[in-house]
Amino acid sequence: MELEFYGATRRVTGSCHILRACGYTVLLDCGLVQGGAEDEAVNRQPFPFDPVGIDAVVLSHGHIDHSGRIPLLVKRGYRGPIHTHEATIELCRVLLKDSASLAEHDAERRSRHGHHNTKPLYTVDDAMRAVEHMQGMRYEEMREILPGISVRLHDAGHILGSAFVEIQVNEAGKRRTIVFSGDLGQYGIPILNDPAAIGHADYVLVESTYGDRLHRSLDETMKELGDIVTNACRDCGNILIPAFAIGRSQELLYLFGEHYHAWDLASWQVFLDSPMAIEASRIYWEHSELWDEEASVFRKNLRRMPPLGNLHLTARVEQSIAINSRRQGAIIIAGSGMCNGGRIIHHLKNNIERPECHIIISGFMAAGTLGRRLVDGDKEVYLHGAPYRVAARVHTVGGLSAHGDRDDLLRWLGSCECKPNVYVVHGEDKVKEQFRETIKTELAFETEVPKPGDILDLVTGDLKRAQS
Ligand SMILES: [Zn+2]
Repeated sequence: MELEFYGATRRVTGSCHILRACGYTVLLDCGLVQGGAEDEAVNRQPFPFDPVGIDAVVLSHGHIDHSGRIPLLVKRGYRGPIHTHEATIELCRVLLKDSASLAEHDAERRSRHGHHNTKPLYTVDDAMRAVEHMQGMRYEEMREILPGISVRLHDAGHILGSAFVEIQVNEAGKRRTIVFSGDLGQYGIPILNDPAAIGHADYVLVESTYGDRLHRSLDETMKELGDIVTNACRDCGNILIPAFAIGRSQELLYLFGEHYHAWDLASWQVFLDSPMAIEASRIYWEHSELWDEEASVFRKNLRRMPPLGNLHLTARVEQSIAINSRRQGAIIIAGSGMCNGGRIIHHLKNNIERPECHIIISGFMAAGTLGRRLVDGDKEVYLHGAPYRVAARVHTVGGLSAHGDRDDLLRWLGSCECKPNVYVVHGEDKVKEQFRETIKTELAFETEVPKPGDILDLVTGDLKRAQS
């Protein structure tokens, strides 16, 4: 029995690992690499295995950097089951469809510009076919996915349905337990439960996106948000929030409901201006069994989710355009999250040159995106090819991250009942090395940073380094 580290070991995105045991091959996640064109070209390359020869896939959560190559896997011949949380299946219908239509539009654009490679990575049909292969699980349910290999999902508190995966292998009388973190959430964030405890594990693969930093506390973040709303009201402007459709949008609506009176939100109109976020929100509100206690009590008292009488779900284009006439009192949540396209661009065009308006940046902005330029304080930006002066106030509110910080990750690792061997994956190189040191110092666990192609012998615990 062995585990091969494959994707997300060198870069932040594109999670994928390969377990070989009991004569079977199982994939843990199959994510898309995201970033510049050069990074994304990797997605088109052949898999380092034959998709037909894979026996099962286990998917930790719906985000594209974990699920986004599954349609390609199916397109290239994979016919087996994909085990994942039942809420993840619903979110994947939304996310993979979106990912496929982006790929289709991109291909169309390339063909208009005379490029030779004009095939989309996969189509909406491919994506929907992949979802058909998904088999829903609940948290804490143990499932024997293949003879000798059992899987259990535990709540990771990252997005709805997100799980860390416990795999129990029993090969020729030798038993080993491997835990794969997927992405881990912050302890104490709204709506979702805290990450569950690990229990027993021989080997733990841990993500490290924010393994080198600490987030601001939720209380401080709430004060920050409240102050922005108060100032925007005083300035008689609008508030724009570029937000990711899944997770962040629902959290913001929930927080607005929770602070409705404290932040005097009755004098505002809130627009959720993203068809994808609207669909995702419906899935979030339907799965109340997955919320934490606070959110459950909140719902029981208010009898509606999200608890906002002044919320407008503007799915249709003409509804979105109608928002343009509002000069003040509008809170507009729209995608894309990093401002590299989508409806947020139209709203920026209408508001960015007005000093009375406020822009809240609440998520990670990759280098090279418009969102990053706003965070960096650029005084002029290009929107649909035309220059605009940045006069609106830009606020970076970091405390709402869907990823746990260094202390969250340590707390989760510390919930292991024994001393596992730890493998740091899914982060930037520098951060992984730093987090490895932190784990050694704080927890005294054996810790390695594996590279793509490295193979872990699950019987002996030896890590065989790939030739480089
Ligand atoms: Zn994620």
